[in-house]
Amino acid sequence: SEIRIQQAQKMESVGRLAGGVAHDFNNMLGVILGHTELALLQADEHHELHDDLKEIQKAAKRSADITRQLLAFARKQTISPRQLDLNDTVERMLNMLRRLIGEDIDLVWQPSAHLWPVKMDPSQIDQILANLCVNARDAIGGVGKLTIETGKKSFDEEYCSKHPGFIPGDFVLLAVSDNGCGMDKEVLGNLFEPFFTTKDVGKGTGLGLATIFGIVKQNNGFINVYSEPGQGSTFRIYLPRIFTNDG
Ligand code: ADP
Repeated sequence: SEIRIQQAQKMESVGRLAGGVAHDFNNMLGVILGHTELALLQADEHHELHDDLKEIQKAAKRSADITRQLLAFARKQTISPRQLDLNDTVERMLNMLRRLIGEDIDLVWQPSAHLWPVKMDPSQIDQILANLCVNARDAIGGVGKLTIETGKKSFDEEYCSKHPGFIPGDFVLLAVSDNGCGMDKEVLGNLFEPFFTTKDVGKGTGLGLATIFGIVKQNNGFINVYSEPGQGSTFRIYLPRIFTNDG
């Protein structure tokens, strides 16, 4: 649809800009970090400048994290798509994801049997899952439940004409649901905008969902978001099935 095309163009120009800026910025951060470390060698815990230098170091490291994320977003990372069973890819990530969301959140895994294969770079699935789970964790902000689900879904022309954003065909579903704070219309409308975030400075970059959008689009899939303020959210990622000789 119109909005999606505009979105894609905006992402491309943001990507080009971000890539150039992030690269130069990263070099400068290297200089700041290097000199801070040198200064820290001379200013041990007892030195009056020690705490200030530590703060500079912390902020510079955090900035380096952000630029790295920006570079990853801007760069069309070289990807090697291959035939995948999404259940295997998710299962390999579960332990990492449990660590990411912490012990207060129950992770429920609901794989659907006999998935169709998809053709993707598995690290892109990892990136999608990690970003969605961090968002779910932040939306829950305490004790809660996060569900990861897979499925097989087919949509025909008639269904798609009634459901904007849906594409006809056979898709493998990857869904992440949380019972967190949910989103109002305002947030839902800006969700995939690069740099849109409601998180505190230093906590969010607003690049997580923009990155996911880029990955899913690159793989000819689409995303559907359902959310109810105060109830929670569900992100459904649909990836086109591929057909193989062995059925
Ligand atoms: P970031 O996480 O850095 O803020 P994202 O692009 O991943 O960037 O998310 C953008 C915004 O969308 C978040 O700041 C938050 O307001 C909202 N959001 C994303 N996922 C969820 C979720 N599961 N529940 C509630 N709000 C969400």
